[in-house]
Amino acid sequence: MILTNRIASLIVRTTIVLTVVVLGAGALVLYGAGIPLHTFQGITAYLTLAVAVIALGAASIITTALALARTVLGPLTHLSAAIRTISATNNLSLRVPATYSPEVGDVVESINQILDTTENAYLDMLQARFEVESANKGKSLFIAKVSHELRTPIHSITGMLRILLKQETAPGKRQYIQMAQDSAVALLETINEILDFSKMQNGDLSLELESFNLPQTIRSTIEHLIPRFEEKPDIAFCWEIHPDVPENVTGDAARIRNVLVNLLGNAFKFTDKGHVKLEVRRCSSLHEQTARIQFLVTDTGIGIPANKLATIFDPFTTADEGTARLYAGTGLGLAIVKQIAERMGGSVVVNSTAGEGSTFAVELQLECAHSGSTLDTGRSDTCRVAVLGSPDIRQLTVAEGLERFGCKVAMFSLDEPEHLDQLISSLSSFTIIHIIKARDILSDELMPLLQSADRENIPVVLSVPAAEISSTDQLTRGGSLYITLQPTSALDLLLMTSGKLKPNTSVREIDEATEKATHKLNILIADDAKTNRIILKTLLEEAGHTVEVVENGKQLLDKITFRPELQEAQPLPYDLVLTDIQMPVMDGITATQNFRELERQAKAERKLPIVAVTSYAFPEECSKMLASGIDHILTKPINPKRLSRLISQITYDSDYQNSGADAEQSDRQIIEELCQLTENLNQRVSELGAEVSKISKQDSGVIIDIQGVFERSGDSLRRTGLILSGFIDSYDEPLTTMEKVSLPVDDPVSFRRTVHSLKGLLLDAGAQFAAQLAAILEEKAVHEPNTITLEEISHIAAATRDAALVAQELVIALPSLEVYSALPSIDDEVTLH
Ligand code: ADP
Repeated sequence: MILTNRIASLIVRTTIVLTVVVLGAGALVLYGAGIPLHTFQGITAYLTLAVAVIALGAASIITTALALARTVLGPLTHLSAAIRTISATNNLSLRVPATYSPEVGDVVESINQILDTTENAYLDMLQARFEVESANKGKSLFIAKVSHELRTPIHSITGMLRILLKQETAPGKRQYIQMAQDSAVALLETINEILDFSKMQNGDLSLELESFNLPQTIRSTIEHLIPRFEEKPDIAFCWEIHPDVPENVTGDAARIRNVLVNLLGNAFKFTDKGHVKLEVRRCSSLHEQTARIQFLVTDTGIGIPANKLATIFDPFTTADEGTARLYAGTGLGLAIVKQIAERMGGSVVVNSTAGEGSTFAVELQLECAHSGSTLDTGRSDTCRVAVLGSPDIRQLTVAEGLERFGCKVAMFSLDEPEHLDQLISSLSSFTIIHIIKARDILSDELMPLLQSADRENIPVVLSVPAAEISSTDQLTRGGSLYITLQPTSALDLLLMTSGKLKPNTSVREIDEATEKATHKLNILIADDAKTNRIILKTLLEEAGHTVEVVENGKQLLDKITFRPELQEAQPLPYDLVLTDIQMPVMDGITATQNFRELERQAKAERKLPIVAVTSYAFPEECSKMLASGIDHILTKPINPKRLSRLISQITYDSDYQNSGADAEQSDRQIIEELCQLTENLNQRVSELGAEVSKISKQDSGVIIDIQGVFERSGDSLRRTGLILSGFIDSYDEPLTTMEKVSLPVDDPVSFRRTVHSLKGLLLDAGAQFAAQLAAILEEKAVHEPNTITLEEISHIAAATRDAALVAQELVIALPSLEVYSALPSIDDEVTLH
């Protein structure tokens, strides 16, 4: 617009100047020609000249202006319109149309060049962004695949070590194998964390929506962690759940377990003394059907420096980043917790002071049926509970918890000897007695209280550290005495005494797969990895099944294909197929698809159950497996317990239980076999006893009462083996402490404890003779410690060593004995059903 105005005013001014110049020149020309201007002729000629000049000037100016407008203004207008369009649409591929005007043409060309450059830069940027995104996705996928490749050989290592552990009896070697296995399991945990994390980065972390019992999930997670807690016996661990927490919720139980395992695992890792506490409570929520549940994990450990708090949830970050790291870890646990919490509509925050401890608070949103429902303890009365324990956080937490459930609580201290008497004398005013047993309290010190409570029929819940569960063997369970492993929450205490919860008495889940299966199956295994074939075959054969192995899907199909020449479908010689998925020649999915098709064509009466055994359990893979006709998916590493559970379920589903007579028959067979074996054992024991007597020159009678051990183990050969191995592994420490005592005994109390624990171990192992000697010495330590002689001590030491020798022999004599097997079910969380 400004340009147009300027051109117009230039034209006007040029016209005026030209007119003045032309008119002046005209006047001079007329004057030179002798035509005076004041005559009529002069005026006419002058005016004619003026009009002609003006008309000519105006015409040329107009022509120039038009030409100017055509060559400059038009292209400029197009140019500005094009630029407006480009900026309005952000379309960098648009260009300003070319123009014939050389002046504006250059400008247009330059602008188009700038647009070219901008568009190229923009496309490069897009490409770079795409590459970064796909690199990220590729990286996650790469990590997922590599983790998978790493997991496979580690599964083989843990499986092989497990077999080795069963066969090796020498305590020293067993310890090395156990250490190797612990390391392999730790490595597997790390890889699982990386895999989990990469799944989350990829957006592949799917959440299950299932209805589950929240207190039960928390309880089972804690039970699963007990062996880890036991490694740090100086830490008091307690947990409580508030009454307003809903019992049944909908959400992803496995992920909640993940969160708790991470937070509690960290709390134990970074704490050496004091306590670790888990508190579960309900926060207010906006919606009726939604419960916001808070999980608070508090510890008195090393804490986190203030300058690290902001980054602690970032992946691969640790607060302890010195060159020599004190605590092992990937730095992924908290990143995983944060992602899970956020995916569950919640959050995680930390409050920590270096040197004092930390509190992690995770809030999760869970669906629940009734907003106002509270936990049912199974007790309608107002319980009056006496809590006897060391005055520490465990006692306090359980007392506070009981009060929240409406109980009246009185606390008694195990550290004050008179408290025990006070409790006994006021026993009738309580409806429940809870004893939190400390390690240094002997079971027989509690005997008078237990007997009085039994007489008055008052239920007693005795919660003991896992390491001491065997020392309670002499107490009669049942009736009014409930013995359970620590930690016990207020809720569990009430549930146990109302008969709604069984006390927890086993530290590790028992490896049931190796207990003889009631129904012996013919099982076909397909796996290309030799080690996997051996592990599976050994596990299943130990359980009494008949096993055949093949190496790929093609061989599998050859074994289970129906023969078309036969008119009627022939029953297959297998009851179950376990197949790997990724195999050369033919994979497990293709083999299953083909087999199911043949099964349909042959109108087979019974569907052959097919189980995929794989470590490649990504969601899309799982859907493919199930769609191909696979019935169940079992994740590697093979957890013997889950395998056994799955086989029982399949056997049940396949109606094997219909043949009740068969079942009874095989039960009878097993019992007969066991009796036979026990008899042989007794025979062997007496022979060994005789031999050993010769060595030790003493009349020791039965050195080890194997029959008694077998009965106390619940008639389980496996557990008998465990007890004997346990004795072999642990008798040495109290024995050497006892032998080193200086006489006369200067500290009778601690001497008595040492002899007492040795006696407990001897009793456990059925070494009755040695145990009797120890009992006599223990008695002497109480009443007449000054009379104890070196000879008595040597006598017990010799008897104990004899017993250890016999136990060793027994373990060797029983190659079929299942000894301590400790493959933790660490991948329970990723199990797919
Ligand atoms: P990891 O424990 O495998 O290193 P995490 O992501 O679980 O990884 O934890 C990250 C870091 O946070 C830890 O290395 C540790 O420095 C710090 N941390 C986590 N929990 C605690 C805790 N309870 N007490 C002290 N430090 C903790």
